[in-house]
Amino acid sequence: MSTSFINRQYIENLLEDAKHADDASLAVSLEKAQQGKSLSHKDVAGLLTTENPEHIEEIYDIAGKIKKRIYGSRIVIFAPLYVSDYCVNRCTYCSFNHNHKFKRSRLTMDELRQEVKILEMMGHKRLAIEAGESNEECPVEYILECIKTIYEMKFDNGEIRRINVNIAATTEENYRKLKKAGIGTYILFQETYDEHIYSQVHIAGPKKDFLWHLNAFDRAQDAGIDDVGGGVLFGLANPYFDVMGLLLHNEHLEKKYNSGFHTISVPRLCSAPGMNIESFPNLVDDETFTKITAVIRIAVPFTGMILSTREKSALRKKLLQLGISQVSAGSSTEVGGYTKRQHNEKTNPQFLVNDERSAVSIISELMDDGFIPSFCTACYREGRTGDRFMSLAKSGEIGNVCLPNALMTLCEYSMDYGDDTFRQKAAAITEKEIFNIANGSIRQKTIENITKIQSGSGRDFYV
Ligand code: SAM
Repeated sequence: MSTSFINRQYIENLLEDAKHADDASLAVSLEKAQQGKSLSHKDVAGLLTTENPEHIEEIYDIAGKIKKRIYGSRIVIFAPLYVSDYCVNRCTYCSFNHNHKFKRSRLTMDELRQEVKILEMMGHKRLAIEAGESNEECPVEYILECIKTIYEMKFDNGEIRRINVNIAATTEENYRKLKKAGIGTYILFQETYDEHIYSQVHIAGPKKDFLWHLNAFDRAQDAGIDDVGGGVLFGLANPYFDVMGLLLHNEHLEKKYNSGFHTISVPRLCSAPGMNIESFPNLVDDETFTKITAVIRIAVPFTGMILSTREKSALRKKLLQLGISQVSAGSSTEVGGYTKRQHNEKTNPQFLVNDERSAVSIISELMDDGFIPSFCTACYREGRTGDRFMSLAKSGEIGNVCLPNALMTLCEYSMDYGDDTFRQKAAAITEKEIFNIANGSIRQKTIENITKIQSGSGRDFYV
């Protein structure tokens, strides 16, 4: 039976009360956040809605410190892979909208291999499969075939080591099949937790059923998928309402499955073929979007946060300091888009990306800004998912695991895909960061492994 744990009135009351909160009560919330104490819904609503510049600066300061303490300088890199744009839904914001007329397609397995080959040549090890919803044209069996095909591909430099999946809400039985196929995270954006707006923007199709969509992670968890990734599409509804919705959803999953969101994505509405962005009244400006990102970081410190190439590079830079721990790079949002791009063919994306830099230049610039681009997929391969990952993160031991893995995978990437300048940058970052591995024997082993990768006598090391 589908249930709703999103109490609309409760969220509205919290946001209304927050509007009248005085500086003193906000200072108490900020102090709690500074001390790393967990925040109440009232605290979060206050932080979200404040417009006091001093408070906002403090929110950024706290979010930045949390980010640094828990995630260090590591940024995980991934790319989306669109496999099918057939869709039976009519979502007003999406170019895959059933009523939007364009030539639709689904990758053949040969086309899929070609796309994956290009992504591998860009250095990607972690992909997110994306598809529209269509039981006819894109049944779960097709997705399973894609996953099997990708995992079977082997290249000189290794293989795709983790496939996350962002496909429409489905049945427990189908989630069981996806789990068996070895997916990483199952990602699904609620789009909005505001049920009224949800029904306005989802005009027809199975996705129109708010509760079916809302309870998808329960079915996924019941089927054994314990890494689930949530998100809302900012720009559809009141963003503060949606952040509170995300937190309630997370708490529901924590309570019921002992494991909340593995990641939260923060997609923001972009222009797309077949829709007019001006017709959406709740677009979110950069300042609000930045504040929201920082408040999510403070509210759920151990949940990874994902930012896509929907955002421009300058804003991406800022948000990386405030909470983002994973970014996509070199993305195409179109079926067959990587192959088309290589052949300079005209494209027809799901939405228009705002960061069109190549993967290698994004990765190189991350290092210029002091970050460690990480191609790590170790937790998934070691079975550290769900609550096992969360307890590692909460214990603080994550630094002895993620940091060595980030440095070793960056070294491997630099040897496989970088030029001399890139390798020098990677070596400089490694020299600086290696001493942040607290455990002496893990540090020593990491140094040995990096030497082996550099000399070509070993690869694919992880803790
Ligand atoms: N069909 C699946 C579903 O229904 O959840 C996967 C969705 S789609 C491939 C991935 C995401 O793209 C959507 O969940 C939506 O949030 C986002 N998206 C769609 N149109 C967008 C737009 N115009 N701007 C930004 N993001 C958009």
